[in-house]
Amino acid sequence: MTGMVEIPKIEEAFTLQYYEALHHLMPSVTDLRAQAAMVMPLLKGRTLWMVNSTAQGGGVAEMLPKMITLLEELGLETRWLVITTEERRFYDLTKRMHNLIHGEGEPRLTDDDRALYDRVSRENAERMEGLIGPDDLLVIHDPQPMGVGALLKERLGMPLIWRCHIGLDEHLPQTRVAWSFLERYADGYDHAVFSAPEYIPDYLAGRATIIHPAIDPQSHKNRDLSPHKLVGILCNSGLKHDSHPVLTPPFEQRAQRLQRDGTWGPAVTDGSQIGLLYRPIVTQISRWDRLKGFAPLLEGFVRLKKRTDDPARNYDERHRRRLEIVRLVLAGPDPSAVQDDPEGQEVLAELIDAYRRLPERMQHDVVMLSLPMQSRKENALMVNALQRCSTVVVQNSLREGFGLTATEAMWKRKATIGTYACGLRQQIRSGVDGALIKDPSDADEVADKLDRLLQDPTLRSVLSRNAQRRVFQEFLIFGQLGHWLQLLAQTVEETAST
Ligand code: UDP
Repeated sequence: MTGMVEIPKIEEAFTLQYYEALHHLMPSVTDLRAQAAMVMPLLKGRTLWMVNSTAQGGGVAEMLPKMITLLEELGLETRWLVITTEERRFYDLTKRMHNLIHGEGEPRLTDDDRALYDRVSRENAERMEGLIGPDDLLVIHDPQPMGVGALLKERLGMPLIWRCHIGLDEHLPQTRVAWSFLERYADGYDHAVFSAPEYIPDYLAGRATIIHPAIDPQSHKNRDLSPHKLVGILCNSGLKHDSHPVLTPPFEQRAQRLQRDGTWGPAVTDGSQIGLLYRPIVTQISRWDRLKGFAPLLEGFVRLKKRTDDPARNYDERHRRRLEIVRLVLAGPDPSAVQDDPEGQEVLAELIDAYRRLPERMQHDVVMLSLPMQSRKENALMVNALQRCSTVVVQNSLREGFGLTATEAMWKRKATIGTYACGLRQQIRSGVDGALIKDPSDADEVADKLDRLLQDPTLRSVLSRNAQRRVFQEFLIFGQLGHWLQLLAQTVEETAST
């Protein structure tokens, strides 16, 4: 902290040199360097300031240090600032605003809300004014600091971009209230960036660019795992019985499996294994959120399994066997880590109820997992290992901002089933890089899609190969940074000529 401006510390991250030493990533890094070389003369001498509302927690805070480190390495001086306030009510207001943009909550923002928002914006703008120069570049992330950006623009006139990480592809009373609240601040911005065209409010049309979220292929969640590493992670996290010695010690906290009586217990025991390395596995890993479509996925899987006994289905022996032994893994964060999320608790309670009502035979084939969240690294490694052990990865969302879980699975060359929810249809082209479910609440359609993909290994291999290529071309951090450099240069040019 300096004064009251928070300047978060950035832990060491990978360098471009590290990525380009990997043959499959080298072309992307080379492209990025070439793009940087073209635009850097325009950007040199300016500092890029990234401003958001939290140094920890959430996707933006996780992504910023990585972006900042790589931009610095490319020669652009980049700094991170976090807005702060003593007024706790500000965070309640911005949380309400966040929910409204997602179409949730009471569609109302009051004059008091406006006064609070403006007051906090002023405080922060005053503190930042001495740091930022008129030739610098300012990128504001999400609605919380949007007012700060608008005020700084008034005072300093530097090029100003708003990066909005959220959105909804529907116009609802809630979204209208939020967007009309924000309109006056948006006026001051030279440009805005969204994750999908459907999210752009009318008043920003013509000033908005799409930059998709992206993944780091070398992060703990996405990096390649050798067979030994993979097995080690499964053993260390309690997802596989360690019948052999393994090199690394057990994780501090292990994954838990929902037991038949509805309590959480060890994920595997002597008598009961999951079979992650042996059986066909269908997986969904998400937050316990109703919109993630866990319940209809579970029901769809159950209906699929029942087809094994249906003589009218003309399954060959191999597929019948496959359906007999396939298992569904539904994984999400440890419920104690989401105690402040009553809706998440409720959704999980409903799923537990649905699980308990399954016949015993089916309970063996449905594996509900609670993944500890204390160590982000260990959690990420578990997600990585589970996705890699999957035959098919599903993201059966009713709504989805982007759906990084799909990106992560596609990168791992997994046959991925999504839905037409906005974020997922940005990524998966049905029949090309995966399959899309039209109605995620229709368990029969879910069963049909699973059946189709499980039945056809050639189709799976084509879809998954294309999926990985799609992520490689569109959703890796290198391309994302290239887009940012272009946009920054374009904004500098445009603002210089106005
Ligand atoms: N995730 C995780 N552990 C879990 C559940 C989810 O690490 O137990 C991760 C998941 O791998 C993904 C992120 O949380 O990286 C969720 O992002 P996504 O865009 O899919 O959905 P959101 O949760 O933002 O709606």
